[in-house]
Amino acid sequence: MIIQDKDFNYMETPWDKLKEECGVVGVYAPEKKDIARMVYFGLHALQHRGQESAGIASNKSGKIQYYKEMGLVQEVFNDEIIERLQGDISIGHVRYSTTGESYVANAQPLVVYHKGGSLALAHNGNLVNAKEIRDELQDNGVIFQTSIDSEVIASLIARYSKDRSIEEAIVETTKRIKGSYALVITFGNKLIGVRDPNGIRPLSIGKHENGYVLASESCAFSVMGAEFVRDVQAGEMVIIEDNEIKSEIYNGTSKKAACVFEFVYFSRPDSILDGKNVYMARRNAGIILAKEHPVDADMVIAVPDSGTVAAIGYAQESGIPFGEGLIKNRYVGRTFIQPDQRMRELSVRLKLNVLKDNIRGKRIIMIDDSIVRGTTSGKIVSMLKEAGAKEVHIRISSPPVAHSCYFGIDTPSRRHLVAANHSIDNISEMIGADSLGYISVEGLIDAIGLSKNDLCTACFDGCYPMEVPKSCNKYVFEKE
Ligand code: AMP
Repeated sequence: MIIQDKDFNYMETPWDKLKEECGVVGVYAPEKKDIARMVYFGLHALQHRGQESAGIASNKSGKIQYYKEMGLVQEVFNDEIIERLQGDISIGHVRYSTTGESYVANAQPLVVYHKGGSLALAHNGNLVNAKEIRDELQDNGVIFQTSIDSEVIASLIARYSKDRSIEEAIVETTKRIKGSYALVITFGNKLIGVRDPNGIRPLSIGKHENGYVLASESCAFSVMGAEFVRDVQAGEMVIIEDNEIKSEIYNGTSKKAACVFEFVYFSRPDSILDGKNVYMARRNAGIILAKEHPVDADMVIAVPDSGTVAAIGYAQESGIPFGEGLIKNRYVGRTFIQPDQRMRELSVRLKLNVLKDNIRGKRIIMIDDSIVRGTTSGKIVSMLKEAGAKEVHIRISSPPVAHSCYFGIDTPSRRHLVAANHSIDNISEMIGADSLGYISVEGLIDAIGLSKNDLCTACFDGCYPMEVPKSCNKYVFEKE
């Protein structure tokens, strides 16, 4: 494994470049052989949460072996590597981060060796006070090997566990860190899962015949041979040892704030998050969108795959037939974050092609889950019009994304968010649509079925579940 030093300077890196989207998995199964393979399968199911790097760490009687590399799960691992990673407990991670900090040292799980033994940790989320803690630790001579906030967590746990149990050290750590975190940790004979006090990022518990599993999303369970048991609660730590699961609510006083964007875009539709079915949430959003923004047209189409479920709901409610208008090349990766605008536009064309004969002469309603910069919708409208669409009406199954996310959804800084800087009519004109309608915040919350009080909707309304410290506002708020 070659670790490249790209002269990374943590201090000078804009905060929004440090944001990450990730997926985590943990398996506890001392009786079972080949548990790294289970983690491998789980990571496959979570590949949509991160395509940049993948890693697995396995714990055999307290000794941890790991392997991580840049690339997709199937590129990183082969039979031989998986064979070498046997143990009683195993954890895994897939990561996506913005360009610039893509190097293998930043891949996870992180494995640290401290006085009490070896500990492996995988983190999904984003700390808003990592820099502050890191500065303080560095002032005290602590060295860091990566540029990720997760190392701050690992470092604090290692520090605090000098004179405490691992559980106490984790709780102590949660008192220092602020932000979003769904953690899976293995240490000694334990698999531990922790969800931040607001429950921003998801984490679920599953049961299989030889033990337990943890995963960012329940869609990972069936391929791992596990049944969904429940979500880890906000502010809860679950400790799995001696084939039993214990729970500790380490913080029961914070406001619940599960990320609404998990329902909108990020999670797979076959997952259940906080007791709510993602597929149904998206379908209901389509139904509500049709009620809130009806328009006369000949066909409802989706931007595949992100808009498909909502488009089915919209068609159902409006009585306008659902049809296919865009075909997706499944072998092209994400278009969302590309180095420049020209590349982003080109990758929309690379990813999507118009089914011309199905579009020509028709009035089209096109559904997508979100508009961020406006690149995708703008490009698709012009592709549909070039193909002869008579009208293109855009309907979006989330409200305007007008505020940056600091908690792990990789939206760009505010100045790049089209809805932060333009009215809806303006956006409609900019992207060349005949009309544009977004679902309301209330409509989306109804579609999900959770209470507004239990969701973080900051990307729409700017109401963050916690104070966002100045140090991380420095770059992203520059235009406010
Ligand atoms: P944009 O082209 O910048 O307006 O981005 C909107 C498109 O990106 C939509 O098709 C969404 O499905 C997709 N999208 C929204 N949020 C994200 C995200 N966090 N990561 C990747 N893609 C996203």
